[in-house]
Amino acid sequence: MIDIQGVSKWYGAFQVLNDCALSVRRGEVLVICGPSGSGKSTLLKTVNGLEAFQQGAVTVDGVRLDDPRVDLTRLRSRVGMVFQHFELFPHLTVMQNLTLAQVKVLGRSQAEAQARGLIYLERVGLIDHRDKRPAQLSGGQQQRVAIARALCMDPVVMLFDEPTSSLDPEMVAEVLDVMAGLAADGMTMICVTHEMGFARRVADRVVFMDEGRILDDAPAKVFFAEGGVRSPRADAFLNRLL
Ligand code: ADP
Ligand code: MG
Repeated sequence: MIDIQGVSKWYGAFQVLNDCALSVRRGEVLVICGPSGSGKSTLLKTVNGLEAFQQGAVTVDGVRLDDPRVDLTRLRSRVGMVFQHFELFPHLTVMQNLTLAQVKVLGRSQAEAQARGLIYLERVGLIDHRDKRPAQLSGGQQQRVAIARALCMDPVVMLFDEPTSSLDPEMVAEVLDVMAGLAADGMTMICVTHEMGFARRVADRVVFMDEGRILDDAPAKVFFAEGGVRSPRADAFLNRLL
């Protein structure tokens, strides 16, 4: 579903991604972890063409991102992205947040978009909140709306960038539960997260990044195994978290 080959990126003289390669199969759940500043967000954003890079190639569902014929807006609509700060439109209701891009980008009718919106609001347990504005919801609820909004676009893959990092602790589980449900239903997912309990339970594979490089790429079972085969830096990182 996703294939990243030899991707390198520089900001001036600073190399933020160093020869990164990784692939994600359909239905696979990949967790990316690593210290702050290691390039996780930058790598994730290369997948939907939000970050340009100087070397390498990224293919999403058979489409090469550097193909000049690629319609990036269209491609992005098929890659769901959920960020740390739930970027809902504050002046729109929950339902309007869900229908806007469906109508504008996918050309669905309002009725069709709303029907789809209801399905995913039900899915994230927020059907009764459809007429509220984001500010009337808790952080966890807002993040679940952001997930529902992404799902409305029929994504082929969902990207999560620390979706629970800015939430109060009691709201983390409700968001991780929605993500685990998606994974169980076979969604292809890349999740940047420090929630190692989630990674252990839900991820098929774990990638560890440091200083722009992928140092580890292993099945979750192997990565988390007692005395598992990990890079020394991943070891140190895990020991600090646990
Ligand atoms: P992570 O998500 O792992 O915390 P990021 O991908 O956000 O890391 O950032 C990786 C590195 O790139 C950091 O050192 C950050 O300061 C640097 N960086 C990110 N964006 C820019 C930018 N626009 N210009 C210069 N440096 C940047
Ligand atoms: Mg980041």
